[in-house]
Parts: sequence; structure tokens; C-alpha cells
Amino acid sequence: MAGVSRLQYTPEIRIIRVMCSGRVDLAFVFRAFLNKMDGVYIGGCRLDECNYTTHGNYHALTMTLLAKRIMEHIGLYPERLRIEFMNASMGQYFAETVNEMVKKIKELGPVGVGEGMSEEELVRRIKEILRLVPYIKIVKREKLKTKLDKNSPESWNEFFTAEEIENLFKEIPSYYIEPEKCQACMTCARRCPVDAIDSKRGMVHVIDQDKCIKCGTCLDVCPPKFRAVTKLIGVNVPPPPPEEKRLIKREKEKEVA
Ligand code: SF4
Ligand code: SF4
Repeated sequence: MAGVSRLQYTPEIRIIRVMCSGRVDLAFVFRAFLNKMDGVYIGGCRLDECNYTTHGNYHALTMTLLAKRIMEHIGLYPERLRIEFMNASMGQYFAETVNEMVKKIKELGPVGVGEGMSEEELVRRIKEILRLVPYIKIVKREKLKTKLDKNSPESWNEFFTAEEIENLFKEIPSYYIEPEKCQACMTCARRCPVDAIDSKRGMVHVIDQDKCIKCGTCLDVCPPKFRAVTKLIGVNVPPPPPEEKRLIKREKEKEVA
């Protein structure tokens, strides 16, 4: 549109085409910052003018509002992320808003540097968010589906509040396998999406807390007769049992002993 109309816009952007703005995942945004992009501009179809029936642009909107709050939470300027809605005849609008955003980003400076953060700290904070994206999306899934009122954009900013995001991170659970209860049935390890469970036949299973993405699957799938997985909030996870104490006794063996 802007190109076909020969409109001038800044050469400092890289365009990545997706079939629908709803395809832009929370993880894509943070991965872009991790890869040293100083800003992310999402261009979607105008609200209620979706080419499909999915209205993915509404989802892109709620995702963007959530991402902005998370950015604030980890110390990044939320202005580094922007969403705009347009149709094929709005090339001029696209060029203007992109130019405006690039000007703003130049004022803010490079990502992390502009915020006075060391590179290591920036990488650490973004990687932690990327690890928690599945958890965040599970907790906020209903809210992310909300179709906001397109006529009152001034209310969008408060859809996710800073306090809500503060609590979201405060309430992050940890999952722990109780050594006394685990029967090494291996169900949790087979279902863990990120291989975060150290699983050996006949041995108490152990969750690697650094790998765990808090999806809660292990809690859901541990058979009710064992109930070995516990969800912990606001308390430290007990250390795993030493290797020599991980050999388990089956329930029947315990009865005989
Ligand atoms: S919550 Fe359980 S299943 Fe999910 S990633 Fe962590 S260890 Fe794996
Ligand atoms: S599903 Fe439960 S009993 Fe089976 S290995 Fe995992 S924690 Fe242990």
C-alpha cells in the first residue's frame, strides 16, 4: 500500500508479514527485543473489518496491552511496542505512524541502553519472560479473548493494570514432586512439554525448576492414587532428595516392610 503509492517511510524497519495480526504471539514481541530490535510495530486490519471470521486483530490488541504492561514490569519503555489498525487504502496512515514511532524510538535510545540496563540484565529479564509466556497465556487466556470496545480506545490502557501484572508475577506457582509419594510411574515426565522432569525408572522424579514453564500439566496428570505433585505459591521449593535417596519403595513393599 505505502510502497505501491510511492509514499516515503523510514528505511529503519524490517517488515515481517503474517496472515493475521492475531498470529503475533507474546513470545514474538519479547524475542524481537531479545534480538536487539528497539521497537515493535504491529499493523492489523481495522477492528471489525477482519478478512477472516476470527477477529484476530482483537486478540492482537489484548496481547499488545498485556505485553506493554509486562514491559513496564521488567523496566522497558512500553512505547517500544505499538499497534495500529488500517486497511489497504491507508498507506499514508501507515507511513505516518511508522515514521512517528521510529522518531520516538530514537528519542528512547537502543533497547536496554535507553532504560539504563546492562545487556546481561536485559537478556536475563527477557529470557525469564519468554520462559513464563505459556504460564502467562494460560492465566490470562479468558481476558485475552475479550473483544474490547473499538470506540473507546482511551479505556484500553487500563484493561490490564500495573497492579494486576505485579500480582501475576507474585503468584507464579512452583511445582514440586513429593519424594514420599512419587511412585515413578513416569506419566508426568512423558507429558511435560519441556522435558523439565528428571525421570529414571524406579527413582523419585524431580522437577528442574529452571526449565519448568509452570504449565501445571504434571499436577493434572499425576494419578489420583499417588497425588505426588504439589503446587506451591509464595514459598521456597524444598531441595530435591539426594541421588542415593531417590530409589523408591513401591506401596506394597512399604506395607510388607
Ligand atoms: S509444570 Fe510440570 S509439566 Fe509443566 S513444565 Fe513444569 S514440570 Fe513440566
Ligand atoms: S506422575 Fe506422579 S507418581 Fe508418576 S512419576 Fe510423576 S510425580 Fe511420580
